[in-house]
Amino acid sequence: MYIVQVASECAPVIKAGGLGDVVYGLSRGLEVQGHCVEIILPKYDCMRYDHIWGLHDAYRELWVPWYGGAIHCSVYCGWVHGQVCFFIEPHSQDNFFNRGCYYGCNDDNMRFAFFSKAALEFLLQSNKRPDVIHCHDWQTGLVPVMLFEMYKYHGMEHQRVCYTIHNFKHQGIGGTETLWATGLNQESYYFHYDRLQDNFNPFAINYMKGGIVYSNYVNTVSPHHAWEAHHTDIGCGLGHTLHLTQDKFAGILNGIDYKMWNPELDSYIPYHYAKDNLADKTLNKKALRERLLMQQADKPLIAFIGRLDAQKGVHLVHHALYYALSREAQFVLLGSATEPGINSRFWHEKNYLNNHPDCHLELGFNEELAHLIYAGADMIVVPSNYEPCGLTQMIGLQYGTVPIVRAVGGLVNTVFDRDYEQTKHPEERNGYVFHQTDNYALESAMNRAIQLWYQEPEEFSKLVIQGMEYDYSWNHPVEEYLGVYDRIRHK
Ligand code: ADP
Repeated sequence: MYIVQVASECAPVIKAGGLGDVVYGLSRGLEVQGHCVEIILPKYDCMRYDHIWGLHDAYRELWVPWYGGAIHCSVYCGWVHGQVCFFIEPHSQDNFFNRGCYYGCNDDNMRFAFFSKAALEFLLQSNKRPDVIHCHDWQTGLVPVMLFEMYKYHGMEHQRVCYTIHNFKHQGIGGTETLWATGLNQESYYFHYDRLQDNFNPFAINYMKGGIVYSNYVNTVSPHHAWEAHHTDIGCGLGHTLHLTQDKFAGILNGIDYKMWNPELDSYIPYHYAKDNLADKTLNKKALRERLLMQQADKPLIAFIGRLDAQKGVHLVHHALYYALSREAQFVLLGSATEPGINSRFWHEKNYLNNHPDCHLELGFNEELAHLIYAGADMIVVPSNYEPCGLTQMIGLQYGTVPIVRAVGGLVNTVFDRDYEQTKHPEERNGYVFHQTDNYALESAMNRAIQLWYQEPEEFSKLVIQGMEYDYSWNHPVEEYLGVYDRIRHK
């Protein structure tokens, strides 16, 4: 099969979070199965060019209709760790992708409407006719809308769209100007509850809703989150739309790329290890402490890695840090915040704890350090308010780092409480789970983990190994996506 992914991220060249990991990992997983995959991305100025091999201009004269005229673009091609990627660079005064950031600009809606249009124009003009176009998140929600309302009539009538939602919180809600810019025009037609009209703001259009309504298949990234999005307010206003389209909506659990995330091969960690030589994991713990100037002590090391965002339960992350210190455990935090209030709170905390021998806060995005933390920590805490899938607990399991998670979204599908999970045999349990969003709930789970580490080290090692035995690679999800592609292709 010939599959084209259209996305705003692809790890490690463009990565703000899990979306990047998924676009890369899924593409590689599909190629390993013998399918042809190409990835279309914006050419941002701030992406990691050092992860692209053989970048060259592949298509110089791409003219993308925009308002009444057209914007001239160049399309570059290169390999990102073996995957073919096309990067679209518009030459216009808008400077859509030369902003020193991926997201967070006032005209994000316009930037990604343009990207979606340019991706379709590129497919059309370069005569690429994939069986399936796989789009991701709000940034590419207009792709199926434009495909089935416009491009279908210009030679792309056989293409089908799979649309994956990684986060319902960001939907691309905005005014009508993008309809005029992209050539969809006809405001009154699209401003309809059955099409792009936002479910709450009758004067706004909603890209993600468009993606859901127009795509041949829609999924989010875990079965439990699919249920939550459909039946609770976690769907952020799209629950009814999902209800109306439930026949084509489901949850498919993400995988992690076992070539990128593998303690036996990882080039970012000093000591490779597997479940039969866990002693070498301890050497990574030592190396991590050395690097972060923490004391070498007989204490468990607990980590948090993730965006410091309300989604991630920052109040509980903060509490986890102090609770760990009060319980003779060490704590390492690696996170970046885009919200100024959260950012300054953690900078304050970092300064306050600067010389503390048992903790370290690293504020920013650091892929290399993340690998060392997964390898060196004993436990990883994921106290999210909501979590569509969550990758850090799965990476933690793969690195023998016991997850302590809140029971939401994909965390429910991947972590099974050592003491209480009834659906799994004790030998199949792999971490600790708590339910409420208060400090006590978190403490009760952390307490059980810390106690086991101190009082029953052999039992703790058993739990570590049980976690490492889980297979959260892309093998299984790739099969599920292939089943979906096959079904929609023949419709
Ligand atoms: P989300 O997509 O909501 O950000 P996920 O758990 O799905 O969360 O994916 C997070 C990914 O981003 C993981 O690969 C994690 O290691 C990585 N990550 C998050 N924050 C950082 C950071 N500050 N530095 C390095 N990697 C990070």
